[in-house]
Amino acid sequence: MQLSCPDCESELANSGELKRHCPSCDSDFVINVCCRECGQPLQRLKACGAVSFWCDHCNELKSKSTAIYNLVKQA
Ligand SMILES: [Zn+2]
Ligand SMILES: [Zn+2]
Repeated sequence: MQLSCPDCESELANSGELKRHCPSCDSDFVINVCCRECGQPLQRLKACGAVSFWCDHCNELKSKSTAIYNLVKQA
């Protein structure tokens, strides 16, 4: 998934699992994965190398293509 910086709209560099870095602003972000249906944070599940997400609130599995990714800037 390609995400852009909310401040300068540069492409963010991958700096780890669910982490991004903006080379222009020198800002670090973590990605909060939320449920499209209920907006609650999703739990990350890893099975057989494939990543999917679990919603406690909907009580069902969510695929990463249907999740919402929110960038949270790190201080
Ligand atoms: Zn930026
Ligand atoms: Zn949900």
